[in-house]
Amino acid sequence: MNIRIGFGYDSHVFKPGVPLIIGGLPIEHPEGLAGHSDGDVLLHALTDALLGSIAVGDIGSFFPPSDPRWKGADSAIFLNLAMEELLNAGYRLGNVDITLILARPKIGPIAGEMRARVAELLDVPLDRVSIKAKTPEGLNLDHVAQCHAVAMVERVQESEGLKSMSDVIENQRQLEDVVEDLLSSVHGVPKKRGLPQVYDTDDIT
Ligand code: MG
Repeated sequence: MNIRIGFGYDSHVFKPGVPLIIGGLPIEHPEGLAGHSDGDVLLHALTDALLGSIAVGDIGSFFPPSDPRWKGADSAIFLNLAMEELLNAGYRLGNVDITLILARPKIGPIAGEMRARVAELLDVPLDRVSIKAKTPEGLNLDHVAQCHAVAMVERVQESEGLKSMSDVIENQRQLEDVVEDLLSSVHGVPKKRGLPQVYDTDDIT
């Protein structure tokens, strides 16, 4: 498949006396998000969306909460690993669309800064990142931050180097055709071809 999608979701409860970090952005607020790591609900949902797009598991399988190494960890580490997994699988990020759901603080005034930070962490242009925020109307979840994220990824096209190798093979086939035609016309040697040549890719080292 050339294009795949991934979806991620996360939620964290607000806790007094903890720094608030959402989308890799430190935010002035009396409460932060409780968690084994820095509690960055947005980066966790986004990491799961990226891992999900190539079906390699979830954030918990890579970074188990039982592992003391991830206590208080910067969630950008998780996101970086997901991006590496994506590249190793032969894909690159197309775009991400993210919805935050929380009562406070208001995201509107800092949405631009948060979007720029996420684009920077993903190393993609700004127009590939969308961040929207809603309040949890009617859910009685004002003490919780939730986040949904979807990511579209696309297979990396074969490199220019590989393309030119294909060109060489094509030219070689054409060359053999020309030589056979010449032999056939000059010496009456019957043409060997009839079926297209089959390449055993295991033999190409
Ligand atoms: Mg989380």
